[in-house]
Amino acid sequence: MSIINGALYVVATPIGNLGDISQRALEVLSAVAVIAAEDTRHSGQLLHHFGIRTPTIALHDHNERAVSESIVARLQAGEAVALVSDAGTPLISDPGYHLVVQARAAGCRVVPVPGASALLAALSASGLPSDRFIFEGFLPAKAGGRTARLESLRDEPRTLLFYEAPHRIEASIAAMAAVFGADRPAVIARELTKTFETIQGGSLAALSSWLADDANQRKGEFVVVVGGAPVEASLVDAEAERVLRLLLAEMSIKQAATLTAKITGAKKNLLYQFALEISAD
Ligand code: SAM
Repeated sequence: MSIINGALYVVATPIGNLGDISQRALEVLSAVAVIAAEDTRHSGQLLHHFGIRTPTIALHDHNERAVSESIVARLQAGEAVALVSDAGTPLISDPGYHLVVQARAAGCRVVPVPGASALLAALSASGLPSDRFIFEGFLPAKAGGRTARLESLRDEPRTLLFYEAPHRIEASIAAMAAVFGADRPAVIARELTKTFETIQGGSLAALSSWLADDANQRKGEFVVVVGGAPVEASLVDAEAERVLRLLLAEMSIKQAATLTAKITGAKKNLLYQFALEISAD
């Protein structure tokens, strides 16, 4: 394949199953001058597996700003560079943000080579609403910060996605049950694409017991998918609902919600959510 001189390629790698590497990722990794890797030893094993001999340099959270400068200099000198992280898509709870910012600021071309990402793999198999979702990455490690973050998300109507570490999964699910309510539906997606892949759904209370009952289910890597807060029809009063329904017959959901908010003084976001629900019926 022809590689673009002076381009930074942001290359996704597998999250477990090596079969998920793309043909284009292999071609790019073979063709670039150098691969910036979160952990050169870890990525070295992947590259060795595919017979790729491109040199690597380390780019991780602790040296990213400094190393980015030298990588941008190489890009400006016409070299093509690839960026990979240990697994999945770089920049998604992984290093690379500062490099991409610096490369773009310097006018260099940044080319994505898409592939695996644990959050989309989990969402795609979760059976929870996938039309609108938000990704929250890792929750704060300490209990106080975690609860505060969860409280800020309590009324979020979109599906929520979190990454979680094995030593915190039980505490996080318990905290979610306490803040979002024991009945809120959720899915724990564990060890995706690997031998012990498990995708377990249930209420947060049921998932808490499931984790407590089986130590094996607390091992490995996790994505937690949580259903959004239900939008209570009662939050939209009868008059606002009447106006909204009339306007929905004549115009788009967005226009109807905006106009109903102006006419009735009800909250536009709430009306919009409610309009989405009644239009889907
Ligand atoms: N850049 C990666 C991506 O695109 O998904 C994520 C990197 S982040 C440092 C690692 C976290 O992603 C893990 O702690 C876990 O929450 C999630 N993760 C990565 N691989 C996974 C897998 N195979 N199954 C479930 N979760 C995974």
